[in-house]
Amino acid sequence: MRAIVACLGVLVGVHLGSAAELPLVKVLSTGGTIASRYDPVQKGFVPAVSGEQLLEGIPEIKAIARVEVETIATIGSSDITPEIWLKLARRANEVLADPAVAGVVVTHGTDTMEETAYFLDLTITSQKPVIVVGAQRAASIKDTDGPRNLMNAIRVAISPEAVGKGAMIVMNEEINAAREVTKTSTLDVGTFRTLEFGKLGYASEEGVRFYRAPLRRQTIPLAADTRLGRVEIVMHYAGADGALIRALLSQGKLDGLVIAGLGLGHVSGAMFDAIEEVRAKNIPVVISTRVYTGRVLPLYASKGSGVSLVKIGCVEADNLSPQKARVLLLLASTRTKDPKELANYFNH
Ligand code: ASP
Repeated sequence: MRAIVACLGVLVGVHLGSAAELPLVKVLSTGGTIASRYDPVQKGFVPAVSGEQLLEGIPEIKAIARVEVETIATIGSSDITPEIWLKLARRANEVLADPAVAGVVVTHGTDTMEETAYFLDLTITSQKPVIVVGAQRAASIKDTDGPRNLMNAIRVAISPEAVGKGAMIVMNEEINAAREVTKTSTLDVGTFRTLEFGKLGYASEEGVRFYRAPLRRQTIPLAADTRLGRVEIVMHYAGADGALIRALLSQGKLDGLVIAGLGLGHVSGAMFDAIEEVRAKNIPVVISTRVYTGRVLPLYASKGSGVSLVKIGCVEADNLSPQKARVLLLLASTRTKDPKELANYFNH
C-alpha cells in the first residue's frame, strides 16, 4: 500500500513527507505594497496586512515548507531606516543560526528593497539564503502579484542551489543578486532587473533554476555595538555648485558622503571645492555615478574629474549605484575612515 501511495505521489509531484519533515522558513515582514490595502477614508493604499495575514492567503505554501512569521514592521519602505536594517540583520542572523531553519524571507516595499537586500547581503554571516520579496500590486487588488512572488521566494529560500549566493530579490519569477539589482519601473511587475549582467535565474511553479552566481560579495559582520553614522547622497546635475554639500557640512552631523556624479564619476569645479572642504575634515567621500551601468574610473584629470577627486582622498564606487554605495559606506566607515582601506571595500 505504501509503495502505491509513494508511486502516486511521484506521479502527481506531491511531497508525501509529514509536515514536520518539510524545510522551515522564517518570514520577517516589514510592510510595503505586498502588505497594503486600499483605505477608502485616506483614498489610497496603506500598509495594513501583518506577516501572518499575508501567509494565511497562500495555503499552498504548506505543501512545500513550514513557515514561521514575525512582523518586524508594517510600514512603507520609504520609512525604512538604517536602524531598521540593523534590527532586521541581527534578527535574520539569529534565526539563521538555528540549524532547523533553511532560509529567511523578508517581505518589503519595493521602493528601498534593493538597499535593504544589499545591507543584508553584507551583514548576514550565514551561507543560507536570504530572500527579499514584495509586490507592485497591493494585496487588496484582485490580480496582486504578492502571493505568487511570496510563494516563489519560499521556493528559493529552501532551494539547495540558493545556498552561498547571499541576499537575493525574487519577484516576477526572476532571481536577482542584492548587489546588482535595481528597481527599473514605477509600476511594471517586472521592475527588478540587473541591468548590466542579467538575472541569476528563475523561480516558479516549475522549480528554481540558477544560471550564474554573484561573485563580488563580501561580509562585514555587525558587532553588538555597531552604530551607523549619517551618510548622505548628493547628486550632480548641470549647474550643481556644492551648495547642498556645504549645507550638510554646516549641520555638523556628516559622517560620510556619496556623490552621484556624472558619467565616469565627474563633478563641476565648483562642487569639487565643496568636496575638498568635506575631505579637509577627514569625512569619507565616495564617488558613484548617476549613470545606470558601468564603473566609475579616474580617466580624466581636470578639476572635478576622477584623477583630481582621487588625489584628495575620494574613493571610487566601482559599479555600485549611489544608493548601494551609501549602504557599503555606512558599514565600511564603522571600520575605517582611511581612503585606501575604504577603497579595498569598494574594490572587493
Ligand atoms: N510604497 C511601496 C513601498 O513600500 C511601494 C511598493 O512596495 O511597491 O515601497
